[in-house]
Amino acid sequence: MDCELCGKNTLLSETRIDGVPLMVCVTCRGNAGQSNYSPPVPLRANPSRTPRETPHEVILVPDFGQRIQRARAKMGLTHEELAAKVFERESVIRKFELGKITPSAALVKKIEKFLSIELEEK
Ligand SMILES: [Zn+2]
Repeated sequence: MDCELCGKNTLLSETRIDGVPLMVCVTCRGNAGQSNYSPPVPLRANPSRTPRETPHEVILVPDFGQRIQRARAKMGLTHEELAAKVFERESVIRKFELGKITPSAALVKKIEKFLSIELEEK
């Protein structure tokens, strides 16, 4: 039988490595014993994941999607055109209209201003 760690065909003994029973040789068993202690890796918050916009609870009117859709249609704009006007992706505008996403406060403001509508619940 071969050592499950190094593959050496030698005398094996069962040892637990990280709670997993393995048949290993004397060398590996010794190594495992020494390196068994692994200091816990602290879970660091990823500092690069800073939000683009400051989070701000936006409470929207229940029919915000319809309001955008109507105002957009009145101006004769497509999703794509509106998206370009407010510097957003078309998919964001579509999802916003369908109520599938809660957009950032900044986007709500931009759309409100551009379409001259009210989206935030006052
Ligand atoms: Zn081994």
